[in-house]
Amino acid sequence: MTLTDRILMGPGPCNPYPEAVQALGRPMLGHLDPEFISLLDETNERLRIVFQTKNALTFPVSGTGSAGMEAAIVNFVGPGDTAVVAVNGVFGGRMVDVVQRTGATAVAVDHEWGQPVDVKRMLAAHNGPTMFAMVHAETSTGVESDVAAMGAVKGDALLLVDCVTSLGGVDLRVDEWGVDIAYSGTQKCLGVAPGLAPLTVSNRAIARIKSTPQSWYLDLNMIASYVTGSGARAYHHTAPISMIMSLHAGLGAVLDEGLEQVRERHQSVGDAMKDAMVDLGFELFAAEGHRLAPLSSISIPDGRLGSLDEATVRSRLLADHGIEIGGGLGPVAGKVWRIGTMGHSARHRNVTLLHAALSEILG
Ligand SMILES: *Cc1c(COP(=O)(O)O)cnc(C)c1O
Repeated sequence: MTLTDRILMGPGPCNPYPEAVQALGRPMLGHLDPEFISLLDETNERLRIVFQTKNALTFPVSGTGSAGMEAAIVNFVGPGDTAVVAVNGVFGGRMVDVVQRTGATAVAVDHEWGQPVDVKRMLAAHNGPTMFAMVHAETSTGVESDVAAMGAVKGDALLLVDCVTSLGGVDLRVDEWGVDIAYSGTQKCLGVAPGLAPLTVSNRAIARIKSTPQSWYLDLNMIASYVTGSGARAYHHTAPISMIMSLHAGLGAVLDEGLEQVRERHQSVGDAMKDAMVDLGFELFAAEGHRLAPLSSISIPDGRLGSLDEATVRSRLLADHGIEIGGGLGPVAGKVWRIGTMGHSARHRNVTLLHAALSEILG
């Protein structure tokens, strides 16, 4: 088994689209080269299409999804502000931590793992927060939450949404749903290597950017003119040129297939994966009606693995079949598997291969 045969359903990174991999080898350009600037502009335009937004401030933050999270928080809250944060898995918890580090107050609204965000409880948590924050697609639990419902009642607050596992795989409408700030990551449904965090910011949110956010590197006041071309395209930090070329190509692959077709592929492969796992005697962890297509969370019933423990089964999948799936995080570690069918990994043949490989390992 060579490493090029790996099937990555871990759930992140997934297998990148071949176009995105090839673009990593393109000749280097300077970050102020007009050729690169036009490629960046086109990348941002492609991001607007997948985010379904007209937001001028839409670009890939230099850094992984968590850098997008920090940029989305440190520019908008600080001492004296309050953010109401939905916690229905690991990533909501991470947002609480980032909010607290800015000196703002985080009001965490804890949910049972496997459940979607309860908008009524979010509203009841505080009467006049600076921000509501939630995760659209919780990768730790396989749950999709209703962003439009939160957007409809956000009032004067900004609505921040983590779209790391939804962008490019799940229906996401930033403008229509009233999302003010959304960030993502390249290695999930976008089908690109890890390293960039697409971010989009509404004009309403731009008007509220802190004059001195508590981060130099992620300060949108300094980055905005370079990425949008609304002012001098001056040096702030060197853009990760190769990664932006790769994102440009990955987005090209998505748009060539068609955003709706890509979404349908993620849905149909995700459905097939859940059926295949139920067929093998596993159960579905996420609440019914809120199950995320590109990330299937699977509960392992007592005794289903016979004498094997779950980590051994995952190691054998990787060693003998080249297939990576994810274990559980936090309170569900050891009890849940997370199977990502994202980006180029969202293929029906991967469902067939995993079903066959697990059948063989489990006998
Ligand atoms: C993967 C993920 C992140 C973090 O992204 P990194 O690229 O690992 O920094 C944040 N939120 C969600 C929902 C994720 O799935």
